[in-house]
Amino acid sequence: MENKKELRTWLDQFNLDHPLVIAGPCSAETEEQVLKIAHQLKETDTSVLRAGIWKPRTRPGNFEGVGALGLKWLQKAKEETGLLTTTEVANPIHVDLALKHDVDILWIGARTTVSPFNIQEIAEALKGTDKTVLIKNPVNPDLSLWLGAVERFYKQDVKNLGVIHRGFSTYEKSKYRNNPEWQIAIDLQTKFPDLPLILDPSHIAGRRDIITDLCQTALDLNYDGIMVETHYDPDHAWSDAQQQITPKALDQMTRDLKIRKEVSQSQDFQEKLASLRAKIDVIDNQLLDILGKRMKVADDIGEVKKEKNVAILQSTRWNEILGKMILDGKEHNLSEEFILKIFKAIHQESINHQEKILNE
Ligand code: PEP
Ligand code: MN
Repeated sequence: MENKKELRTWLDQFNLDHPLVIAGPCSAETEEQVLKIAHQLKETDTSVLRAGIWKPRTRPGNFEGVGALGLKWLQKAKEETGLLTTTEVANPIHVDLALKHDVDILWIGARTTVSPFNIQEIAEALKGTDKTVLIKNPVNPDLSLWLGAVERFYKQDVKNLGVIHRGFSTYEKSKYRNNPEWQIAIDLQTKFPDLPLILDPSHIAGRRDIITDLCQTALDLNYDGIMVETHYDPDHAWSDAQQQITPKALDQMTRDLKIRKEVSQSQDFQEKLASLRAKIDVIDNQLLDILGKRMKVADDIGEVKKEKNVAILQSTRWNEILGKMILDGKEHNLSEEFILKIFKAIHQESINHQEKILNE
């Protein structure tokens, strides 16, 4: 697959002057629930109603979706509100049922994208369709696997494509349910600038309070849209209750978000600057993360030294590190002066950490 402008033509149908908003409950629960949410969303910037009909749950026993019955509710919601509809499909039977019920956009879930066998089957079931297919990133941080799934659809002549960034699972707990790893989405964007990129802040966050910030970062990075889990009674949702927001909160959020598209002579410049700054912010956060990790290892070394009663400063080791970093730094276009400064600072911080440990 190569980057082509045609990849984004499906977005034109919405004729929007803001990023695409897809919203709706994690799961369709009842007909009343789907219709009530659809009508509330109609009053917002939302263009597409989402609702999971078949829910892939990591552990059995959680709500697994209402099944094909819910497709009728989506159909009715579309009739009544004019919103387009989208749901997750995970096999050719889902595809067949969704097409029969006139679902407009199909999305592929993160647990499906990991399996080339499943993707191939679904792609073949959709051969030549003019429906839009949005592919969520796989649960594991693997750009090739994500791109491979997009390519499997493209090869089956599915040309209305897009991707949804929903974060990546990690074993370690963090403030996110799924780590965003923005760099992966940025790399994908660099390779395929015309492939529509949509953020799913809900599954990245796993909680309500950081959804706006995540959306703002996505807008700064020029994402084409957001998909936000929305429910009139989030706390009582049958799935993903902690991360859903009300249609009203969604409405407020889209007003608060800075789309950074002020019309001015220097619009192009402003946009470029905002987007580059957002990239720098992502990288700075990665730097902090990696420095924190390095200090944790230094702490562990401190513990070992304490046990064996070894001096903190071992100058041969330190000179070796420095020499190697100066050489490696040249390859990254970093001056010797800079490398010396930065590694001295890092080394000093490690020593401070280890001293603290030895004196405990
Ligand atoms: C969902 O969108 O409700 C869902 C199950 O998402 P994911 O595949 O990203 O976990
Ligand atoms: Mn969900």
